[in-house]
Amino acid sequence: MLPTIAVLGRPNVGKSTLFNRLVGRKIAIVDDTPGVTRDRKEAETRIAGRAVRLLDTAGLEEAAPETIQGRMRASSEAAVRESDLVLFVVDVRTGLTPTDRAFAEWLRRQTVPVILVANKAEGRLGGYAAMEAYELGLGDPVAVSAEHGDGIGELHDAVREHL
Ligand code: GDP
Ligand code: MG
Repeated sequence: MLPTIAVLGRPNVGKSTLFNRLVGRKIAIVDDTPGVTRDRKEAETRIAGRAVRLLDTAGLEEAAPETIQGRMRASSEAAVRESDLVLFVVDVRTGLTPTDRAFAEWLRRQTVPVILVANKAEGRLGGYAAMEAYELGLGDPVAVSAEHGDGIGELHDAVREHL
């Protein structure tokens, strides 16, 4: 069984963009799981030279705003249960939201190791904006731009320390 890494975070932070960036074009999506996690995608890829199974979580975009945290938790719990490592993604352009904070608080109570990924950190001010993510209490954020590819080498290095 390959080590499993889940990409978690509220809608629109760039989870799927990061998933695609880490998987690359040459690796096919191997599963689209039906059911509660019907939008979940998984793929096998290599990170830091190791073969891993990567999970992209989703399906929350359709949830009513007042229930989004509950829905996110249910879908994330399923992913966390089968994961050896979580990439928790936040968006440095919008900054931290109450949903990010609630999600982070829940994650801190789980036993799974978490790498905090500060996405959309491209450009001159990106690294600076990423520092707000320290507030989440999940350790040093890794500043990346999933869209542009910045910081992906550092993310591989961070993952290597956990595998
Ligand atoms: P998800 O809902 O978390 O899976 O987020 P998506 O991957 O669908 O991305 C949401 C939006 O953010 C899309 O419009 C992406 O193009 C955009 N996005 C993703 N990564 C980046 C990034 O690194 N920089 C910027 N500026 N936009 C990004
Ligand atoms: Mg997505």
